[in-house]
Amino acid sequence: YENKPWSTYYPPELQLSYDYPEHNLADFLKKSARQYPAHKALEFMGREMTYTQLYEATCRFANALHGLGIKKGDRVAIMLPNSPQAIISYYGSLMLGAIVVETNPLYTERELLHLLNDSGAELLVTLDILMKRIKKVQPDSPLKHVIVTSIKDYLPFPKNLLYPLKAKKDGLTTKVNYTQGIHPWSELLGHASSEEIQVTINPKEDLALLQYTSGTTGAAKGVMLTHYSLVANTIQARKWMYQTEDAKEIFLAALPFFHVYGMTTVMNLAMYTAGTLLLIPKFDIDLILKVIDKKKPTIFPGAPTMYISVINHPKIHQYDLSSINICISGSAPLPLEVQEKFEALTKGRLVEGYGLTEASPVTHANMLWEKRKLGSIGLPWPDTEAKVVDLETGQDIPLGEIGELAVKGPQLMKGYWNKEQATQDVLKDGWLLTGDIAKMDEEGFFYITDRKKDMIIAGGFNIYPREVEEVLFEHPKIQEGAVVGISDKYRGETVKAFIVLKQGERLTEEELDQWCRERLAAYKVPRIYEFREDLPKTMVGKVLKRKLIEEEEKKSLSK
Ligand code: AMP
Repeated sequence: YENKPWSTYYPPELQLSYDYPEHNLADFLKKSARQYPAHKALEFMGREMTYTQLYEATCRFANALHGLGIKKGDRVAIMLPNSPQAIISYYGSLMLGAIVVETNPLYTERELLHLLNDSGAELLVTLDILMKRIKKVQPDSPLKHVIVTSIKDYLPFPKNLLYPLKAKKDGLTTKVNYTQGIHPWSELLGHASSEEIQVTINPKEDLALLQYTSGTTGAAKGVMLTHYSLVANTIQARKWMYQTEDAKEIFLAALPFFHVYGMTTVMNLAMYTAGTLLLIPKFDIDLILKVIDKKKPTIFPGAPTMYISVINHPKIHQYDLSSINICISGSAPLPLEVQEKFEALTKGRLVEGYGLTEASPVTHANMLWEKRKLGSIGLPWPDTEAKVVDLETGQDIPLGEIGELAVKGPQLMKGYWNKEQATQDVLKDGWLLTGDIAKMDEEGFFYITDRKKDMIIAGGFNIYPREVEEVLFEHPKIQEGAVVGISDKYRGETVKAFIVLKQGERLTEEELDQWCRERLAAYKVPRIYEFREDLPKTMVGKVLKRKLIEEEEKKSLSK
């Protein structure tokens, strides 16, 4: 069994190993501000900022943190939607050598408290409208400072017609009582120096990010990512795109930056290549289509659900999507039909990639301009090795067989924060065990069968929900489906499918059952169907299967 190298299909100019530079991640922004000072760095609800303006604001933020006593190694939590402030506070903290802890603005008090306590963050940057929640958790957390910003801080004047939001009317701002330790953004930055500030760091050792994920098991753990691993993954992304130039691409920033996928493939990649970011604070399909039509983005990294909402939009043909050239879909399996329809609509390339928080996150993708395989996550990225190992023993297995995907490369995490055992369970001899079930074909392309923990064992048979979901998805009346295993007295587990129909469609259980029976072995056919309006999802569009299973468990308890 030989693990074929990634280089087999990469064009010759990419068949190299790179020396990833050892510098602060924030130096991407500094470099672009030097080389392209007047180039547009971002657009946010009609407001534009050049690289010089963005860099200056970031330096001010770093100086302001310094003034509050934040030092290298301190944890700074950020709880913001995509906005200029999200970028400024991220790079500003990094410049100082502080460690960023990203949090999702939708976290409940319980989730937020866990992150703050586990990371020991003493400072948080957030929006005024989220302050109610922060006030509640602050007394039980290590927080000493909260920097509060408002969407208004960066709204343009006069208002732009593309974004007819009125901050006050739409409840986007709220009054905050600035007591001790609570600092208004604009005042703090207004008083801070805009001089460059940078501390000495060791990029291979020092952390840039503690990124929380539940990974393959249990409660959220902090993934420790260094400046070096994040820089490396950004450069790998740039190499993968290879037919592009600096200061040319326009990124549709629909993926949230607080998730490592949007952070690397949108924010960091844009800063590194001096691209322009079109900031989308919240996924709203009508807004996204308008922005594509008017602002002509060239790159749209996303999750399958985003592309699904585009192709199913009732007025899709009224919009011009032809500017879109490059799309990478990750975080969940991309249905074939979605890829084909989306490419037909945009004439751009939509390819599937794969990654996980523990790898900064990308390890695989299909080539944009060379060979690609539908349904595959593609080839490992430059300098990334991948193999499939036995699910139980961790030993290498014969080519083509199904096992656990293991990866190795400069983008891997150092480990989980304060969790030695959990780290040892997944990092072995420099290889990361991903918890995903996969196989590799004879040309070195990888395929994800499912997640280890999502696999259903019913009556002794292994069932991969993803395979069943593909069959559901092929049905012309189905918008999407999720398949989970629920406990069953006789078979251990049984297969249940949750179905969301396309608008205005009707389908009976019998019709659906027949559809599945014609396409799947009997043991894989769902025993129970439930029709729903929508499915619970994460911000990057991954179906929250745990939530569906919990609901089932609650139901069976109350019976
Ligand atoms: P996260 O750490 O939140 O980014 O989640 C990583 C997980 O997302 C992986 O371990 C996979 O289970 C899943 N994932 C990412 N990309 C894909 C893909 N292209 N196909 C299937 N699953 C994926």
